[in-house]
Amino acid sequence: MHLFRKKNQGKQRAVLIGLDGMPHSLATRLMAEGYMPNFKALMDSGSMLKMDSVLPTVSSTAWASIVTGCLPGKHRIFGFVDRVPSTYEMFIPTSRQMESMTWAEHFSRLGKRVFSMGVPTTFPPKAVNGILVSGFLAPDLKRATYPLYIADELAAMGYLIDIDAWQARENRDAFLDEIFLALEKRCEAMFKYFAQEKWDLFVTHFMDTDRLHHFVWGEVEKGQPKFVDWFHRFYRRVDQMIGELVARLDEDVALMIMSDHGFCSLKRDVHLNYWLRQMGLLEFATETPRQLRDLAPQSKCYSLLPGRFYVRVKGRDLNGCVQPGAEYEKVRQDVAAGLMAIRDPETGESVIDKVFMREEIFGGDVMDSAPDLIAKPAEGYDLKGGFEKQVLLEPSPVSGTHTFDNAMWYLNEKNVSCDDATVVDVLPTLYGVLGLDLPGEVDGRCLI
Ligand SMILES: [Zn+2]
Repeated sequence: MHLFRKKNQGKQRAVLIGLDGMPHSLATRLMAEGYMPNFKALMDSGSMLKMDSVLPTVSSTAWASIVTGCLPGKHRIFGFVDRVPSTYEMFIPTSRQMESMTWAEHFSRLGKRVFSMGVPTTFPPKAVNGILVSGFLAPDLKRATYPLYIADELAAMGYLIDIDAWQARENRDAFLDEIFLALEKRCEAMFKYFAQEKWDLFVTHFMDTDRLHHFVWGEVEKGQPKFVDWFHRFYRRVDQMIGELVARLDEDVALMIMSDHGFCSLKRDVHLNYWLRQMGLLEFATETPRQLRDLAPQSKCYSLLPGRFYVRVKGRDLNGCVQPGAEYEKVRQDVAAGLMAIRDPETGESVIDKVFMREEIFGGDVMDSAPDLIAKPAEGYDLKGGFEKQVLLEPSPVSGTHTFDNAMWYLNEKNVSCDDATVVDVLPTLYGVLGLDLPGEVDGRCLI
């Protein structure tokens, strides 16, 4: 990797704002249409880049890549769920599994003060030189903060770690009210600690943008007035937050506002374990399979969301039945070719955009915990990993889904441009802006 680092530009501290799942195209549209005047005003003094996310394109994996500058092969957060190959025990990856150092940890080691709130994969909170409030995987505030007393302060102000996304399926009006409340409370907490704490790195992540998009993106795209109005009201509030923040920033502060992936209308859910069953590569030992332990011994492959495929390799996986070498490669080739042939019967379009072998995207140091193949969906198809479905394609209960491309990244540095920026470039670029040496080997590039 080429690292062109300009030392000492005068910026000593940094404020980073995460707007989860806000597409570059949405940001530019809302600015052009006058809904985000404060964000738009920043364009004169900085650069706005379009970024690619990572595969699989989920918030845990993408934010782990942003805060470490590393791809999943290094930081080891491969999705919302994972499994132990030798036991098939399933678990939710957390900061305990994170193998690379985050910027919050590194700044702490350098003796710099940190405030980090809401960033995915920071639960359980690690000790930092400052304050860390975990993101949406934290079960409650008591277990979400370092130091502990911050939990009481946040509870007193009615802070929400996350909204109840399940509620949205039953009562969307209540969901929309709650999401607005969560946004208000996060802004309130952000400005409280921004004013009262000493910090060198100040990070606030907003999950509400992603939640909102999942539940109303399709309706907004179709122009349904109720949701369009709501959407604009929400983003006006986000823009107001940006305006208030910028008004408080000193000259020596680097500002970045970024998302971790894009969004689009969801066409259909794709149940890939059903597809593997149809292909004769997967069988279950029970009629109502719920977990990997229910796999029948002859199963060669299974999938975890979104689009991760695992071959059951002899010597590596519990009851593995595929020989390493030629047989392993054949299974992978068969799965890849079969996936590329899946069509949506309603439109005839491909459901899968591309399939990658793990060594193609995770780098040479990939560990055995990585999936053997990864499918990148065609736009609008949500790749599911449940075991019980008896159908390949079906409508989804939500109307928006992630895209690999079209994440956004604003930085208050002029004339930064890059045609192939990705989320792993954020950390090395931040370090370049601040004139700091990198925390270790990273996969991203410094773009200044
Ligand atoms: Zn996200």
